[in-house]
Amino acid sequence: MNRVLILHYHEIWLKGGNKNYFLSRLIVAVKHALADLPVAGPQFTSERLLLRPQMEEAMPKILERLRRVFGLAYVAVAREVPSDPTAIEAAACEMMAEKNPRTFAVRAKIADPRFPMNSMELERALGRQILDHLRARASGVQVKLKEPEVTCWVEMIPGRTFLYADRVEGAGGLPPVTSGRLVALLSGGFDSAVAAYKMMRRGAHVVFAHFYGPPSISRGSSRPVAEEIARTLTPYQFTTRLYLVPFDEVQRQIVAATHESFRVLLYRRMMARIARQIARAERALGLVTGDSVSQVASQTLHNLAALDRGIDLPIYRPLAGDDKTEILKLARAIGTYKISCEPFEDCCPRFMPRSPAIFARPEQLERAEAALDIEALVTLGLEGATVRDFKFENGEVALREAQPRRLQKLLDLRKGIPRASGARPTTGE
Ligand code: ATP
Ligand code: MG
Repeated sequence: MNRVLILHYHEIWLKGGNKNYFLSRLIVAVKHALADLPVAGPQFTSERLLLRPQMEEAMPKILERLRRVFGLAYVAVAREVPSDPTAIEAAACEMMAEKNPRTFAVRAKIADPRFPMNSMELERALGRQILDHLRARASGVQVKLKEPEVTCWVEMIPGRTFLYADRVEGAGGLPPVTSGRLVALLSGGFDSAVAAYKMMRRGAHVVFAHFYGPPSISRGSSRPVAEEIARTLTPYQFTTRLYLVPFDEVQRQIVAATHESFRVLLYRRMMARIARQIARAERALGLVTGDSVSQVASQTLHNLAALDRGIDLPIYRPLAGDDKTEILKLARAIGTYKISCEPFEDCCPRFMPRSPAIFARPEQLERAEAALDIEALVTLGLEGATVRDFKFENGEVALREAQPRRLQKLLDLRKGIPRASGARPTTGE
């Protein structure tokens, strides 16, 4: 096969001194994503990564996997030709005849001082040749520099020339797992899955926390929905941990002890407090939620400010300024839309008040919380948590139960259980 995939990366070259770090993580990610597929490389040449697929039939799968590698701007499906004007012309004419466009342009990037033309000269010469070649086949084709139907790209690096008309958009962002951990509060709805994805795309390694209540007669449990979302997002970061936290008893105690107008906000704050402890166990640097400003009553600026009070970690809300249509579009693109459409029992609307507070002040929430044993409720949630680890390997996502030692250690500390003498301190997972 004479096909070469040219992986153009995104932003990374901006990173100055850190460039090699990001690049090495990108190479690891590309290798991991394609581990079971017949492809040679990646080879790093002149600011590009080159891959050589070994079988034409594997191309769709290879491209599908590459589309999920963060850090890639686009992938060009190219053929390699000798760096010689006649050879380039012949190959370009053949390629464009296969495409048979109504309008086209030629774009050349020449980075080889030995080549006898500059980029503009090559573009003009090739444009003329292609036009003649296509018109000879009775085509009404025209050159159109702005938004042509097909672009004939030529990339030349010392001693090598690549020609292509097809580019596959990459996921953008930074290579996976390059900027620390975050704990995302995953509800099963559209927004939090998209929020987590957006932070993964910025290089964060996202751990999920899902809070669930009992299923109802008409709707199933939210747990399989959260699991399915975690599974679907795993290929983007290769490993994912999901904490499933029972929330029924916490909710009951909130309902029994506090005024109904603050219920939803108090649920949310308890979720954030428990997630904060999970962040401690996971050495995570922040929380992520799918809040979009003023989408629902709990998401007014007043309420979001009241929710954050007392949580000593940053809470990232990457959808804060997004509209629902933008969020749903991304949910479709990343494959979580259909999963979130499943009817499931969402624990937040349980015992929903008739009129939820819209402008809560932090002091009001604090006063309401004074009637609760907050620390005991956090411990209750952590104790009941079950943990699942997902791993993407050879094109499959495998699932296993996990028992994080650091969570156990944290629980022992909270309950005042001394560690057995002589036991070595655990260093976590
Ligand atoms: P989503 O579509 O993510 O459910 P939403 O717009 O429906 O968001 P809410 O349901 O009010 O808004 O939830 C706001 C945020 O709170 C969610 O995006 C999520 O981060 C967090 N959250 C809500 N319910 C849960 C839950 N059961 N488990 C974990 N996190 C939750
Ligand atoms: Mg929701």
